[in-house]
Amino acid sequence: MIIPFHFYSNLLSNYEQFKCSQLFGRLLFEEKIHELNHELSHHLSIKNEGNSVESRIITSFNLGDGPIKILVWSQMHGNESTSTKAIYDFLSWVKLNLNTSNKVLVELLQQVTLKIIPILNPDGAFKYTRFNANNVDLNRDAKLQSQPETQVLFSIVESFQPHLCLNMHGQRTIFSAGLNPVPATLSFLSASSTKDRSVNETRLKSMAIINGVNDLLQNFLPEQVGRYNDAFNMNCTGDYLHSTGIPTVLFESGHFADDYEREIVRKYTFLSLFKALELGTAFIEKETHIEALDDYNKIPENQELFVDVVVEKIKVGDVLKTVGIKYEESFEGDDIGFNPIVVEIADKSTYYGHTIIDASQLSNHSKFNDLQVGDEFPELKINENVFVKKFKI
Ligand SMILES: [Zn+2]
Repeated sequence: MIIPFHFYSNLLSNYEQFKCSQLFGRLLFEEKIHELNHELSHHLSIKNEGNSVESRIITSFNLGDGPIKILVWSQMHGNESTSTKAIYDFLSWVKLNLNTSNKVLVELLQQVTLKIIPILNPDGAFKYTRFNANNVDLNRDAKLQSQPETQVLFSIVESFQPHLCLNMHGQRTIFSAGLNPVPATLSFLSASSTKDRSVNETRLKSMAIINGVNDLLQNFLPEQVGRYNDAFNMNCTGDYLHSTGIPTVLFESGHFADDYEREIVRKYTFLSLFKALELGTAFIEKETHIEALDDYNKIPENQELFVDVVVEKIKVGDVLKTVGIKYEESFEGDDIGFNPIVVEIADKSTYYGHTIIDASQLSNHSKFNDLQVGDEFPELKINENVFVKKFKI
């Protein structure tokens, strides 16, 4: 199926009408979606797929009955919740249009069978950590399949036999899309399936999906899409699935200016998910051309060039310096704390800053006198405006 561009631009303009407004911010775990799942279960098929280490349920939504099977999962890393919000936005859109004659939805559900796991690592989500309850990174467990959550995923892969997998993650604020001072608001990867990173039909198929999603995103996020390094690691889910011949696209929801709640990138992740489903229907059974590689390689590779804040012209040890600050996240029960930590004190910053502050108007520099790398940066107030401080989401 081919969905026209105006459909996507309308989705963005009407987003507030269907987005899943019950979900917000960074902390997203089972208890927060319990009611929501119950509500959605009146409209959509929901299934218990298995349990986590700490016996939390791993659920899936099952939609459509078409010949092309697409498996989607999110929050394999428990603290990466943006794509889970995007998944619920998609499910909300489906629910809203289910009993209408929405042509796109009718066609989509005729062409695909979709299985969506919003939270693959519910224990990690509960504790806001990347790892599962046994402290294992589930995205390094594909070969061993030692953890119950990994076993749930791979038993689904075996029984469902997907034509396409969408492996949805979130990334830190440090990434730029290439060498330019723009954040990688969304990044993608078509993982290698061999050590020599050779390109085969399976990789080309996921590249072609990424290219199509990138083309769409360029209309809304120009230059802000990146591509991950494709160093091979058989323990990673995408690399492993590619080695078995199943095209798998890695999504990474990243940073947009001031969007620490990840509410803006959530919208573009939703859009990317929708586009990937469309593209999955269009060519998954067809041969993909080698040109997909050229277009894929044109997407700039992610670089770690950003800090959150660069403070310029601040007196440290009586000399004017530039200070680079990264927010370090901490789980504080009901909130996520963002603590400003000094990562660089230099004459000239080697980083780009999402926020750049000129401190030359600062009247009292004294509390920054002994500042060192690794310190928490004290609150920065210039003319009664606070520019840097610890905050919570
Ligand atoms: Zn991740």
